[in-house]
Amino acid sequence: MSNSSGINAPGRIKLHIVVPCYNEEEVLPEACRQFDALLGRLIDKGKIAADSGIIFVDDGSADATWALIEQAARQRPRVAGLKLSRNRGHQNAVLAGMMTADGDAVVTIDADLQDDIEAIERMVDRHLEGADIVYGVRNERATDTFFKRNSAVLFYRTLAFFGVELVHNHADFRLMSRRAIEALRDYREVNLYLRGIVPLIGYRSAVVEYERRERFAGESKYPLSKMIKLAMQAITSFSTVPLQIITVTGFVVFAGAMAVSAWVLWISLFTDRAVPGWASTVLPMTVLGGIQILCLGVIGAYLGKIYGEVKARPRYVIEQITQPAPEGTPAVAGQAPRETETVAP
Ligand code: UDP
Ligand code: MG
Repeated sequence: MSNSSGINAPGRIKLHIVVPCYNEEEVLPEACRQFDALLGRLIDKGKIAADSGIIFVDDGSADATWALIEQAARQRPRVAGLKLSRNRGHQNAVLAGMMTADGDAVVTIDADLQDDIEAIERMVDRHLEGADIVYGVRNERATDTFFKRNSAVLFYRTLAFFGVELVHNHADFRLMSRRAIEALRDYREVNLYLRGIVPLIGYRSAVVEYERRERFAGESKYPLSKMIKLAMQAITSFSTVPLQIITVTGFVVFAGAMAVSAWVLWISLFTDRAVPGWASTVLPMTVLGGIQILCLGVIGAYLGKIYGEVKARPRYVIEQITQPAPEGTPAVAGQAPRETETVAP
């Protein structure tokens, strides 16, 4: 674990809390106060370094959010702000904050105080015990509306069907170590779905459970339309299952069409049941239809490959490399160290 600051006691990690904010003027002052107080407590307890901080990312808000962030940054030395040029969405705002933060560990959390900020201390503990990624997992959704709760269940089920690996009941409240963030940097895809990418990084992970509360103030910035967009993003960014379905359909329909064509041909050539003009109408339809869907299936198979190549995700992340044995260590236990070779004059 790197420790970037010389002024800190050895072993203390520098923690950054990244908070995406979109039109959050109602909650920002309170959120700022609570996050700052939490950092103060963790510093006093000796768990994190004194130069730890909070980065508020203004995701192109139209209200006083940025003015409040600037004000907080002037008043509180631990607070810093980052303003995106326009609204780019929650995922991009979180990423911008994470890529800017230079802490040894970075926690991302929403501004609305729905996630229990006390869980951050437990996340730091898990990290100090060796976890590179600590997922915040809510243990109940009782405070969510009926709609929100059920749409969330539907969301996880749909994604599981399409083979997208997700941590259940985990939103974007998590801690990542410096090396996990550096690994994340290598995922250059523009269509970002962090919840799907972070598990792909690997490394040791841990889970911290917490209770999700109601929004402190303001309204959800995630209406149904944005949730559907996010679900579509998750599926199309992580799964070629829809394309595979087309490929399989292509082969099945082609086989069926060929069978029907053979039957039409047989009726018209070897029986007298065919109405004049019937075979010459039906045959082109079945043959061409079959070939078309087969071609779509073949194109789908290649498209799936191109999709994988274009994303250029890292093929592996190395976790550790063995260090060479220190000088004088016996190569095999119990054996004397080999003498340095001397060249006879
Ligand atoms: N957010 C953002 N950009 C957006 C939408 C939301 O940065 O385009 C932030 C928002 O300010 C909040 C977090 O993302 O800190 C989660 O949003 P919200 O609480 O509205 O979502 P919900 O908890 O209802 O799913
Ligand atoms: Mg919220």
